[in-house]
Parts: sequence; structure tokens; C-alpha cells
Amino acid sequence: MADFPQTVVEALRSVIGQGTVSLHEPEFSGNEWAYVKECLDTGWVSSVGKFVDSFEGMLADYTGVKHAVATVNGTAALHVCLKLAGVERDEEVLVPALTFVATANAVSYCGAIPHFVDSSEITLGIDPEKLKPYLKEIAEIRNEGCFNRKTGRRIRAVVPMHTFGHPVDLDPLSELCEEYRLVLVEDAAESLGSYYKGRHTGNVGRISALSFNGNKVITTGGGGAILTNDPDLAKLAKHVTTTAKIPHRWSFSHDMVGYNYRLPNINAALGCAQLERLPDFIESKRRLAEHYSRAFLGIEGIRFFAEPPFAKSNYWLNVLLLEKEQAGKRDELLEATNSIGIMTRPSWTLMHRLEMYGHCPRMDDLSVAEDLEVRLINIPSSSRLGGMREARRNDPA
Ligand SMILES: *Cc1c(COP(=O)(O)O)cnc(C)c1O
Repeated sequence: MADFPQTVVEALRSVIGQGTVSLHEPEFSGNEWAYVKECLDTGWVSSVGKFVDSFEGMLADYTGVKHAVATVNGTAALHVCLKLAGVERDEEVLVPALTFVATANAVSYCGAIPHFVDSSEITLGIDPEKLKPYLKEIAEIRNEGCFNRKTGRRIRAVVPMHTFGHPVDLDPLSELCEEYRLVLVEDAAESLGSYYKGRHTGNVGRISALSFNGNKVITTGGGGAILTNDPDLAKLAKHVTTTAKIPHRWSFSHDMVGYNYRLPNINAALGCAQLERLPDFIESKRRLAEHYSRAFLGIEGIRFFAEPPFAKSNYWLNVLLLEKEQAGKRDELLEATNSIGIMTRPSWTLMHRLEMYGHCPRMDDLSVAEDLEVRLINIPSSSRLGGMREARRNDPA
């Protein structure tokens, strides 16, 4: 019998074929060249141009959220989301311990303090069933809002992150937010194309962030977006991300401290072409997930992580979970795969283990996140691996 890492490698190879395979590659087989060339030909590469407006309109159409504001990256989008959610200095914001560091950093940029909570085994994101008794224990509702009894600080918001594209259970979380008067801000950076009970992720929170970094489902090189159904918040988001400049043909005047967080036109051009391809990417990624699911069905000690029952996931990064008895084999498995050109990756280091966040408030019991941290492995997930229809490409002349 082949040893465990070898069995896993064979299962992976049966899906992704031979050769070197990276974790997530961008795919530029549509109108990317044509649209970027148009920017260069016309000179509209920077802060003004038609692609930004088109991209924002297409994002709103695709997600079903009324307004989208493009930003220079996803972290900037999340920073502004939190500002607009009213997060102020010395307040606390509930975020998962299991997330990419940007979620916690965006809280810090507001001068606020991340407060780490545990995840669910079903979604890999914030577990509302565990948050509920926790809030009952630590939170106190006063006239102004929700306060942490232990630290005395106000808790302003909750930021669920849809881990690797798998939607958090948003209904019970929304109910908790109502009950405790917390603002729901979705970190949907990984979940473009993922749906919670038929609604696109980012459409449930008051305001949400997307990312179009090079490794995400679609990319603009670097980029992000703010989503909201509130027209006033959308207007304000546009304003603060464009240095709070008062629109005028020649005069430069600003009415608050704004940010230069706007997405350049040349990046938005890439984004428009990528969004045209998104339905194909998702179809292909879901097919790849199916192939993995079948390949790992009979293998003992490890399982393919499937979307939660209430969700349709984009399967941004596919996940293998080692069963408890094999958890000790994780590093061996990472070594066996990476050494032969199959790129795999362990979980992020949990936020409360990072030096700058070690002192932050958190649930005493983060056992699910801690368990996932040692058992989780990301495997190659590029959309092309699912076998994609050829794009009709308009090559620039
Ligand atoms: C990618 C990502 C972001 C935003 O990242 P940028 O690189 O700034 O676009 C934020 N949160 C999570 C969970 C992410 O994965």
C-alpha cells in the first residue's frame, strides 16, 4: 500500500494532471488585451475614464447589490467600509480568528481593536451559534449601543469573512446584529460569485468589500470594491475614496480627510474583461471542485471540504481537511506536494497568534479555528483546471 502522502499526491494528479501547478493563476483569455490597449491608445489610464464606471455598473449588476465603488485594493475597500459603518478609535470589531490579516488590519487602520471569535466547521467562517452565548456573556446593551463588559469598550461591528469563497451563515448572524445593535460588514474579498440562500455574498451586510488581487476569482492586477444598497453610503464611499474632492471643473477643494483609494482606469479595463468571463470561471471552478470531491471520496484520513448546505460557493481556493488522526502528517503532505510542483498551502496563522494582535480581546475558546488551522490545506484551484470553454477573444489590431 502506498503511504499516505503518496496516496494524496495520486488523487491530486488524477484531477490536475502532470507538471507544475500553482495555487491560483489568473486567466486572461477574453477582452483583456483589447480593453487595456484602448486605455493606452486613448491615454485614459489613470483616475478618469469610462472603464471605472462600466466596471462599477457591471459589479452591481452581477452581485445584485445596488451600488459598487471600485477601490485600489480590497484592504482599502474594507477600511472604508468600516469607517462608513461608524467604527471609531478605541472601539472593538468582532472578526474571525481564522482569516487573512487584512480583515484585522482594516480594523486597526480605524484605530479600533479587533476582537477574535471562533469559526464553524460547516462554513469555516464566524459561527453564529457560538457567538450568541458569547455575546450574552460579554455584551451589554446601553443607550448608545453594545459594550464589552470586560473591557468597557463599545463593540461597533461584526465582520464575517466568507472563507475561501464559502458563505457564512448570514441569517442568524444578522439576527444577532439586530439584537446587539452591531453593524454587519461583510469581508467578501474571497467570495465574488458565491451565494447565500440565493443572495450574492456582500448583499446582506450594510456595506461589504470585494478584492480583485492577482490570486482572486477575477483580477484587476490589484483592486477592490465597496458594495452597498444604501445610496447615501455609496455616495460617501465614492467621495472618501477620491480624496473627498468636491466635484468641480477646475477648483481643487476637499471637505474632509479623504483617501486616494480610487481604482485606476487601466485596472478597471482589466476588470471589465474579467467580469465578462466570471460566469465561465465559476462554472469551471465548481466543476473542478466536483472532480476533487470524487477523487478524495474513498481516501481515508482526509476529505474534500464541500460548500455549506445553504450556499452556492465559488470554490475560490479548494480545501482538504485532514482527519484528526492524520493531522500530524500535514507538513509531510505540504512537502510531498510542493517538492514536485503541486503548490499547496496551510491555513493562515490565526490572528491572535500574530505579534501585533496577541493582546487583543478574544473568545477563550477558539478551538474550532485552532483545529482547522492544523488540519487545513489549500490545493490548486485555478479556473482553467476545471476545463473551460474557450473565450471568444477580440485580439487588438
Ligand atoms: C484578499 C483579501 C482581502 C483584500 O486583499 P487585497 O489584497 O488588499 O485586495 C481582504 N480580506 C480577505 C479575507 C482576503 O482574502
